[in-house]
Amino acid sequence: MKISDKLQHPNWKDRITWSYEFFPPKTSTGIQNLYSRIDRMKKWGHPMFIDVTWGAGGSTSDLTPVIVNVAQKEFQLDTCMHLTCTNMSEEMIETALKKAYETGCRNILALRGDPPKNETEWTQVEGGFRYASDLVRYIKKNYGDEICIGVAGYPEGYSPDDDLERSLKHLKEKVDAGASFIVTQMFYDADNFVEWVKKVRKMGITVPIFPGIMPIQAWDSFIRRAKWSGVKIPQHFMDTLLPVKDNDDDVRERGTDLMIQFCRTLIENGITRLHFYTMNLEKAVKMIIERLGLLDEEVKDVTEKSENQLTTNRT
Ligand code: FAD
Repeated sequence: MKISDKLQHPNWKDRITWSYEFFPPKTSTGIQNLYSRIDRMKKWGHPMFIDVTWGAGGSTSDLTPVIVNVAQKEFQLDTCMHLTCTNMSEEMIETALKKAYETGCRNILALRGDPPKNETEWTQVEGGFRYASDLVRYIKKNYGDEICIGVAGYPEGYSPDDDLERSLKHLKEKVDAGASFIVTQMFYDADNFVEWVKKVRKMGITVPIFPGIMPIQAWDSFIRRAKWSGVKIPQHFMDTLLPVKDNDDDVRERGTDLMIQFCRTLIENGITRLHFYTMNLEKAVKMIIERLGLLDEEVKDVTEKSENQLTTNRT
């Protein structure tokens, strides 16, 4: 089912929702573990959707659609497949879209993509797309309203643009090209995000925004990810975590309290679509969702099977 439709459905519309991002593991054991994890996570806290990343440089172009297929068909989860332009000709893009469509997947996060590993410059392949907005236009032209398209947004940190105005202008371009939702880069400064959302809205962008939430699992990964994405670490995060940095359990416990406060700030400001970067781990995500009190009310998912079947006859 399309995320845009689900957002309007009475079962999901007025509640605080959550969704999980996963990435394709490198080994077959890793893949099996991921399936078990998705199954467990679905059981304790049914997400509105899950999304599966597209490896840098197209490195998971075989595996990502397989995971999407299992998520859609075995777990009956509405899935959003990431798709990037890096190293992808139009023909390869079409093959990936077709595969996803045939599994019942109706959501694509359209991205330009990072340069392949060990390359610093992004280059367009012959017969491929230059910008995410080109990919959005292509999907829209070929699939119309049958696929719901999301795009990336950058509230802070290493956006492909170092200029906020330019970044917002290009975000607007992607939405005008046909995107129906935005998923953001991770961040820890909730107040800055709230201000960014106001600027996005001022640009006339009205589509739903899913804030990218990175749970804190351990000190080293917390610091590494903040550096890697270039996001600011608020001082109170450092003050709380630094004294216990050598004890993973304490970091996770205190990190969870910080992220709960962070989520509450978002919710108080009307941002109710929590999107978790799980990093294929469940403990910290569960602690946040549980302690926010979101598991108290049973989530009744829409019966997607029949709704998907109605629309899988595209030729
Ligand atoms: P675009 O929006 O196309 O922007 C890329 C650059 O082009 C920017 O500098 C922009 O300003 C510029 N630009 C855009 N339009 C124009 C124009 N008309 N004229 C001139 N300049 C223009 N990467 C992966 O490889 N796989 C993933 O699965 C993945 N998932 C992601 C999920 C999220 C939520 C986010 C935030 C990022 C993800 N990325 C992923 C990383 C992303 O691919 C990179 O950040 C990439 O560098 C930019 O992608 P984009 O879609 O934002 O690009």
